[in-house]
Amino acid sequence: MTELFAGTDREIEAAARLLAAGELVAFGTETVYGLGADATNAAAVAAIFAAKGRPHFNPLICHYASAEAAFADVAANEAARKAAAAFWPGPLTLVLPRRANCKVALLAGAGLETLAVRVPAHPLAAKLLRALGRPVAAPSANRSGQISPTRAAHVLAGLGGRIAAVVDSGPCQVGVESTVLDLSGETPRLLRPGGVAVEALEAVIGPVQAGVPIEQDVAGRQLRSPGMLVSHYAPRLPVRLRAEKVAADEALLAFGPPLSGAGLVFQLSESGNPAEAAAKLFEGLHWLDAQAPALGLRRIAAMAVPETGLGRAINDRLKRAAAPRGE
Ligand code: AMP
Ligand code: MG
Repeated sequence: MTELFAGTDREIEAAARLLAAGELVAFGTETVYGLGADATNAAAVAAIFAAKGRPHFNPLICHYASAEAAFADVAANEAARKAAAAFWPGPLTLVLPRRANCKVALLAGAGLETLAVRVPAHPLAAKLLRALGRPVAAPSANRSGQISPTRAAHVLAGLGGRIAAVVDSGPCQVGVESTVLDLSGETPRLLRPGGVAVEALEAVIGPVQAGVPIEQDVAGRQLRSPGMLVSHYAPRLPVRLRAEKVAADEALLAFGPPLSGAGLVFQLSESGNPAEAAAKLFEGLHWLDAQAPALGLRRIAAMAVPETGLGRAINDRLKRAAAPRGE
């Protein structure tokens, strides 16, 4: 059963407790309703993808109670500080480099070294974030392929029974998604138009270039040069899929009882649970990438993951990682 909370202090505290326990809670923001999970809990973030029925992992926006809290996880530059001062709380998402001590699960950022952060303006969203005291990863609260919800009733129609609770924050005021601005490179880039107009941004931080959303960027690069991926979307080491044996120069990404003979093993899920494996996938790829070279291992052998539940999204990511490289 999905609980429906109104905005009393008690109910917001109950919603925060559910989030802290790793449950999914949808809540209204000024843009659309978000499907929230504790961003520091990889298993909770994996549950977002499962509830939405998304066949791939895309980077999610992390919501914070304040700019100060956000900039503890990502490194702000001058443009970021100016944009935050002018538009936060509000419908602006900033993409910035993760700090080394960033608490957010790698899965929330789809393994990227940048993270999308935002401070929402809706008073109930702000209250919920303050009550939790941790960032909340939240894409729009709809099943994959359906339109973004702007009322609690829309969320219940799509996700009722699949998530712990919905905070009824009333109809969304903005009704379109946040503007996504990439400030991680040399020039500011607009990745998605949204609630803050680009003219308003330019008045504060100067010229903003047109950018390409990360999903198109990945697809486009694959078209231009098959297999060449955006850096950090894939491990540096080549990946071999559906391994049934491990070669002498391979590290193993295990799913279920590990193949014998591997010198280095990262276990995604001992019991063969795709949701647990999804939560650990990016951590595992980063870890193997970092550890393998010193042991003279030059490839990652990935055991088969079934195409059920989050297994589809895991296989999508591993297939990208296994595609032949341009270099
Ligand atoms: P949603 O959470 O559905 O509103 O969508 C968030 C969107 O923000 C993603 O689909 C990406 O296009 C973009 N985004 C999130 N994180 C990043 C990132 N680290 N780099 C580039 N784009 C991002
Ligand atoms: Mg969406």
